[in-house]
Amino acid sequence: FGWPSQGVVTFKNVSLRYRDHLNAAIKNITFETRPAEKIGIVGRTGSGKSTIVSALFRMVEIFDGEICIDSINISRISLPTLRSKLFVIPQDPFLFSGSLRENLDPLEEFRDIELWNALNKVNLENTIKILGGLTSKVDIGGVNFSVGQRQLICLARAILHNAKVLCVDEATANLDLDTDRQIQLTLRSAFRKSTVITIAHRVHNILDSDRVIVMQDGEIKEFDCPDSL
Ligand code: ATP
Ligand code: MG
Repeated sequence: FGWPSQGVVTFKNVSLRYRDHLNAAIKNITFETRPAEKIGIVGRTGSGKSTIVSALFRMVEIFDGEICIDSINISRISLPTLRSKLFVIPQDPFLFSGSLRENLDPLEEFRDIELWNALNKVNLENTIKILGGLTSKVDIGGVNFSVGQRQLICLARAILHNAKVLCVDEATANLDLDTDRQIQLTLRSAFRKSTVITIAHRVHNILDSDRVIVMQDGEIKEFDCPDSL
């Protein structure tokens, strides 16, 4: 079915603990995104930024409150469906060994031209052509690609699937400037109509977000446009 159509993310009083005996990693988180909004999340290490994304993907089940996407409570969506509709670009993406094609399209759903189209949108077309095309070999983990290139490959996959909700956990590793810029350009062009939630380690990358969530000790300290922070 056509869910999600807009990708509006709603958190209502969400608190989450990783284990019964641990303190809540996020407490009483409430926010709602607007259609196609670009949200940045900043805050100190351990403040709960990645946990917000884990909650959205239902990686952790011990939580109170309600998370909806386009008004559908995600606890009513099967995990495979949920995880095929939301995309995350991890801090240090893992590719599996095999061909580039298998990494981009493991279920063989797309034609070559669609794969090339997605690679073109992340500006990897030439790099991949030089490497030998869609059958280029990917070593285990993707170690024959840089962290930034791996993130771009994940972005290409999200483009193929027309992701309406995309979460980006920015690489903490220093990317080269060109790759960093390419990721930002792709987020602004190919995901113009999607909700993009970026956990930012480099503040300049969230300056043109629509709004920024500032996390502190598991709580939202501020939620406002970047100029007002
Ligand atoms: P960073 O900037 O270092 O990535 P973060 O803001 O993403 O930090 P989280 O990873 O969300 O922080 O962690 C929030 C809290 O939850 C921290 O106290 C952390 O130790 C704890 N935590 C995170 N992951 C787990 C886990 N898998 N099991 C138990 N506790 C966890
Ligand atoms: Mg994190």
